[in-house]
Amino acid sequence: MTDTDEKMKTPNRRDALKGTAALMGLIAAAGMLARPTPASAKISKRAAGYVASPRNGQKCANCRWFYPRSRTCKVVSGTFSPNGWCRLWRR
Ligand code: SF4
Repeated sequence: MTDTDEKMKTPNRRDALKGTAALMGLIAAAGMLARPTPASAKISKRAAGYVASPRNGQKCANCRWFYPRSRTCKVVSGTFSPNGWCRLWRR
């Protein structure tokens, strides 16, 4: 390989490294956009129509989204009474 050949290859390697770095940046950015932040993953009690009493036998205690130990919910932010209810209740 001659010096000229080496000089011609050097920019190509540099360009390849730049391209790789740019690609890694895009992948990282896409990952950040696709992953919801914890705050945005849940909606507010108000938006969910939460009330502190059961409705037609439906309550947090028998909702699929309820975490009884922490009294939290997978889809609504905050803590809840087991007797609460909101529009997102699911069996
Ligand atoms: S979705 Fe509504 S009813 Fe179900 S646990 Fe969460 S706040 Fe309670």
